[in-house]
Amino acid sequence: MISTGASVKCTRCRHMHTEADRISRPRPRRSTGDIQWSDLVCPRCGCKNYYDCTPQVAWCWASGLIEIGDSLPPNEPGGSGAIEIAAGPKYALKGQLSALARHGKGASAGMLLVPGVPEAEGQRAKGDALALWLAWCSRPKSRDGVSFAKRKAA
Ligand SMILES: [Zn+2]
Repeated sequence: MISTGASVKCTRCRHMHTEADRISRPRPRRSTGDIQWSDLVCPRCGCKNYYDCTPQVAWCWASGLIEIGDSLPPNEPGGSGAIEIAAGPKYALKGQLSALARHGKGASAGMLLVPGVPEAEGQRAKGDALALWLAWCSRPKSRDGVSFAKRKAA
């Protein structure tokens, strides 16, 4: 994938730039025998920390499982497809989904799930649960550039 434009945002001065724009700054050495380390810093203010603004998408499966990646995966052989639920910069997308989604327990520990979808019976009920959750997620209009998909309840 060819990345175009700015994909990094400085945490301090909010300057948008690309990773190639970042400048190498040597770290001060504690003693003369130390290895010379250097940090890639913001070209404007010299801050080391930045947000990764690479555009990513989030999708869910009929099971309610949420996944995040560069692009929507192809449909499974069985015909069940991934449904796009949100898009936004990498640094913000996961954090927001983590705050809004249900955290799996037991066998699905560590996974993010769309509330109401795993226990819904049938496509229609699952679609309704997803639409309801997406409507709830998108109420504060935009959060750090993350936008949620709009779906109509059946
Ligand atoms: Zn900066």
